[in-house]
Amino acid sequence: MAHLLLIEDDVAIRTTLVRSLRERGHAVAASHTAMDGLQTALTERPDLVVLDLGLPDLDGAELLRMLRAVSAVPVIVATARDDEDEIVRVLDAGADDYVVKPFTAAQLDARVRAVLRRGGPGRAEAPVVVVGGLRLDAGARTASLDGAPLELTPREFDLLHHLANRAGQVVTKRELLTEVWQVPYGGADKTVDVHLSWLRRKLGETAQRPRYLHTVRGVGIRLSEPA
Ligand code: CA
Repeated sequence: MAHLLLIEDDVAIRTTLVRSLRERGHAVAASHTAMDGLQTALTERPDLVVLDLGLPDLDGAELLRMLRAVSAVPVIVATARDDEDEIVRVLDAGADDYVVKPFTAAQLDARVRAVLRRGGPGRAEAPVVVVGGLRLDAGARTASLDGAPLELTPREFDLLHHLANRAGQVVTKRELLTEVWQVPYGGADKTVDVHLSWLRRKLGETAQRPRYLHTVRGVGIRLSEPA
């Protein structure tokens, strides 16, 4: 059982999903506007938020950015548009997964359970990883380099943590899209490239002069301790 918050303005969809998710054993709170949803997410602290992108008072993607500024709660976006650019945009804005309308409560419930299994500080990887001067604490979700704190977005943290957990191994972009972004087959490699370039900047390195993040041409990325 999980404590879910459903932010959806369509009363028929909302009523059906709330009932179906409760029947599946979840505790469900619901909001019908973005601002009420944001407020409820902060006061009720749900385990996961299901967010409709088409809300009357604010674009759902904008709400996602506001929510991400204050909370790392897992978010599944519900979109009416099966549009790859839109999906990449919301995944980049910090969504953990998405469903395309119309979807069934069973499909949503499967996504909820998958996100909760792999998501959050309780994930099965080492909670504290140290590689050279780089230190990542998945419990506290803090990172530092040579003792100085790194200001990372939730996605950057997850990306760096995934690579640091596999230090010395080459990780493919496909694996990163699947494991860090949870994008099914067919996601855009450029999403990974953009986040890697931001991470490199924060780590004070470039692709041409790498210290930790090494591009292995045609294969993927390897994080390793500087020589
Ligand atoms: Ca809507």
